Amino acid sequence: MTIPFSFELQACQDRARAGVFHTPHGDVLTPVFAPVGTQATVKAVTPTQLQELGASLILSNTYHLYLRPGDELVSDMGGLHLFMNWTGPILTDSGGFQVFSLADTRTIDDDGVTFKSHIDGSMHRFTPEKSIAVQENLGADIIMAFDECAPPTDRAYNERALARTHAWAERCFRVKARTDQALFGIVQGGIFLDLRKNSAEYIASLGFPGHAIGGLSVGETKAEMHAALDIVDLTLPNDKPRYLMGVGTPEDIINCVLRGVDMFDCVLPTRLARHHAALTRTGRLNLINATYTHDIHPIDEGCFCYTCQHFSRAYIRHLIMAKEMLSATLLSIHNIYTLIHLTDDLRQVILDNKLDGFVSNFFEEKARVANTDQSKTI
Ligand SMILES: [Zn+2]
Repeated sequence: MTIPFSFELQACQDRARAGVFHTPHGDVLTPVFAPVGTQATVKAVTPTQLQELGASLILSNTYHLYLRPGDELVSDMGGLHLFMNWTGPILTDSGGFQVFSLADTRTIDDDGVTFKSHIDGSMHRFTPEKSIAVQENLGADIIMAFDECAPPTDRAYNERALARTHAWAERCFRVKARTDQALFGIVQGGIFLDLRKNSAEYIASLGFPGHAIGGLSVGETKAEMHAALDIVDLTLPNDKPRYLMGVGTPEDIINCVLRGVDMFDCVLPTRLARHHAALTRTGRLNLINATYTHDIHPIDEGCFCYTCQHFSRAYIRHLIMAKEMLSATLLSIHNIYTLIHLTDDLRQVILDNKLDGFVSNFFEEKARVANTDQSKTI
């Protein structure tokens, strides 16, 4: 019998890594950016379009799918891959982050969390065992341990939450039954370096096939996020993938790849698209601006995405003004492509030992555009 999951580290440059994570639904080449399909759909984009723009891994949200349509229904429909017609690897989160950020009310105890649905006010309870059962019904390739997300700068809260997160990680590890899913443990600890180190040591000791880093990019400074990543990078084992949850601006991706992160996800590209904004390596364009009314150029002259190869800024602005749905699709395609191809480029320069030049060019170009073309950025 072959082992369904394994991680190969193919090259390192300083602390940046290029690797491959083998899953039952295909290989994930790292560094990788995973688009988010909250409700089992990456908003405004079809699975075929996602494949065409180079997506290998997508993320879906346990909290949302548990509430609607229900994880048992997804299981009855053959699991998430068949239900949403995505044949590649899928990752689900544990539901923890949404329980703490979206639920109308919630009561937490050492055994789990009772919360009120933000959809219809009904009451529900998540425990580590329940989160794993829901994720086993959904059937993603990579699943997450149930954790408590604490405000990053509250020391006392983080100490309490970390004890729970560690106990819950152990319970998730024990109860997981499916062998075709890789369960990742989650490192927490806010901005506190001793807590981060302690958490990375403890989570690594449990023997998960991969590690996630949670509770960052939630209000702390960049310097605090980088310091937390530095200590986690030094503590986690090198032979397992590291997934930084919810981070996805181009500059954050680069700064975090430099600190040993392999996997990213973020709603940013699709959320910006719904707000008429295009993401580029040098900044953002808000296509609703009148300055683009007669602009025949693509969003990004150097971009090879379907949108930039076929449509002008003027056309996309027209779609936005006419409230046509295609604007969200075209902008989502461009934005997701931008992040996926950034991680592809990072992977290639790590393999070629050319990361330093790539990173300095990226930040120099970004600074040059910010200084000379401020009217285009928002
Ligand atoms: Zn493009």
